[in-house]
Amino acid sequence: MTAAPLPRPLYIGSAIYRNSSYGPKHPLAVPRVSVCTDLCTALGWLPEGTYREAPLAGVAELARFHDPAYLDVLQRAEATQSISDADRARYRVGADGNPIYKEVFRRPAISAGGVMLAARLTASGGIVHCPGGGTHHGRPDRAAGFCFLNDPVLGLLTWLDQGLTNIVYLDIDAHHGDGVQDAFHDDARVFTISIHEAGRWPFTGSAKDQAGGAARNFPVPAGCNDSEFAWLMRHAILPLIEARAPQAIMLQAGADGLEEDPLSRLSLSNNAHIAVVQAVMKLAPRLIVLGGGGYNPWTVGRCWAALWGTLNGWPIPDHLPPEAEAGLRALRYDRAAGRNPPAHWFTTLRDRPREGAVREEIKRLVALALKERLPA
Ligand SMILES: [Zn+2]
Repeated sequence: MTAAPLPRPLYIGSAIYRNSSYGPKHPLAVPRVSVCTDLCTALGWLPEGTYREAPLAGVAELARFHDPAYLDVLQRAEATQSISDADRARYRVGADGNPIYKEVFRRPAISAGGVMLAARLTASGGIVHCPGGGTHHGRPDRAAGFCFLNDPVLGLLTWLDQGLTNIVYLDIDAHHGDGVQDAFHDDARVFTISIHEAGRWPFTGSAKDQAGGAARNFPVPAGCNDSEFAWLMRHAILPLIEARAPQAIMLQAGADGLEEDPLSRLSLSNNAHIAVVQAVMKLAPRLIVLGGGGYNPWTVGRCWAALWGTLNGWPIPDHLPPEAEAGLRALRYDRAAGRNPPAHWFTTLRDRPREGAVREEIKRLVALALKERLPA
């Protein structure tokens, strides 16, 4: 534990993300964290002393949330690259889009180690960006939604174990942060807020679901634009956070709600994510920013790099330096959008804003969320 607040934001990454893939046909075939890290390096945004390598979390640390029998199964799956039919059916490893791949235990255990390190480093205050974290669907005893472990929950538990009693978890991934909400159901110490696309997997997180008072959910309609997102922030989410005056905020900044993402139908630009970071930085003495979903390597890498610059208060340049552009041009992406990528995916970090009308559905979500408690 550190005795003093961090003097400057820290970035936690890992070499493991560079060549790890869930398999060629999986949405997580693409590099993400390494794209972000390389962009930040090329921009001169990772000066001496700002980068930390995420440690591999030990089984005892992971067992703070996860079932030891499940951790055993994950380690065995990595060692043998196989799983029994009974274990597959029970633990959903090698099933439901949660493939057995080369680093199927180490990669999630390193992500968890990184987020737990972030919570330790911010014990007395500070900001940490940990783009490899954000596996918000992971369950105590099974894999779900490409997530084998739940690193946000493990990080939040690390904060709670330090004695914090008032934490906000804000999740702007296109999918509901179900694993985190359920882990802290009825727990007044962790208030979870999730903005996600309505009617999308895992099909939970309705506006009426307040997890016994410990959550608010904003299921937004397809096509949600920057103006609608800003409306939700201004009229509901920021007031909810301000009213709680939290000791710490964890932001899951999944990038799959961006317009070019293949797995959702939201129409945000990365200005939405940048604005969230700018707003929440001021609202608590401790902030951890995580990654999450995001399946287009250009939009994910550019978004998460822009968040790191924002956390440091650095201006985002209009044009990327040649080394950064070369790295983006070298990416391969085996989907339709990868065949003819627009120039701004190579030359800029910041998207053009995607503004539009604010639909009535958005205003209704605000009204629902601000009611103190809803009838069941
Ligand atoms: Zn997602």
